[in-house]
Amino acid sequence: MVRWTITRTEGRVPKPVSQQARIEALWSEWAPRMIAGWDIEHGYHEGPFEDSTGEDSEDAIATVSVDWRYIHGSVGWNLLLVAETTDADLLDTVVHEMTHILVNEMRTALLDIDHEERVCTTITRAILAARLAPRPAPQ
Ligand SMILES: [Zn+2]
Repeated sequence: MVRWTITRTEGRVPKPVSQQARIEALWSEWAPRMIAGWDIEHGYHEGPFEDSTGEDSEDAIATVSVDWRYIHGSVGWNLLLVAETTDADLLDTVVHEMTHILVNEMRTALLDIDHEERVCTTITRAILAARLAPRPAPQ
């Protein structure tokens, strides 16, 4: 079952948009900017799921698995949690997961993901802040 939410309108009639469509719209907008050249598959789940490493996704909205050697990866999505997010928070999640794709290669040198989480959160905030910053005037 997919939860539905009203996030777009065409004319005066609200059009229901699936959670998967919300993700795909943001992903297709941001992937060319952030992860061009990466082959990323998406898995959509109606609740917590077992990720590619066998771990339970628990309360994660999304988890990323990457084989950086071949520039390939996958993102698993918990659509029930996606349905509870605002559009701004979903954008934050999409950009955050893309940063995991970019820095995942570092993970093999780490014992846990805590540092990677902080790096990805910081980079996500920087990217989204830069998006809103005024462009410098041409010289
Ligand atoms: Zn993360």
